[in-house]
Amino acid sequence: MMFMIGQGERVQVIGPPQPDHCERCGEQRDFVPRLTYAFGQFDLLFGFVYDKRYELVCPVCNGGWKLDRCAAERTFGKPEIPFHLRYGIWVLAALAAAVGTAAYLYRHRGG
Ligand SMILES: [Zn+2]
Repeated sequence: MMFMIGQGERVQVIGPPQPDHCERCGEQRDFVPRLTYAFGQFDLLFGFVYDKRYELVCPVCNGGWKLDRCAAERTFGKPEIPFHLRYGIWVLAALAAAVGTAAYLYRHRGG
């Protein structure tokens, strides 16, 4: 069996615009609250998220700042990360364990 291994980064808007003063633009802007996360993926099925960053970003100059993760999740709710990326590593671990057990039983079958 061969695994395709990939990785990527996704940006997800997690809530309505937050008007605030942008230091760089020197004007009021509708900051976009968003979550950037990196993920690794095996075989397009199993994946895991390993780097979550919440930020508010100015849509004009791309300036902005990081948000505290807990505060962001309180304000905007938990983000919708695709199921297979969120829990895929556990599915993979369970599968590996099952395969390992099967192999063990096969090797140690009667006699
Ligand atoms: Zn700006």
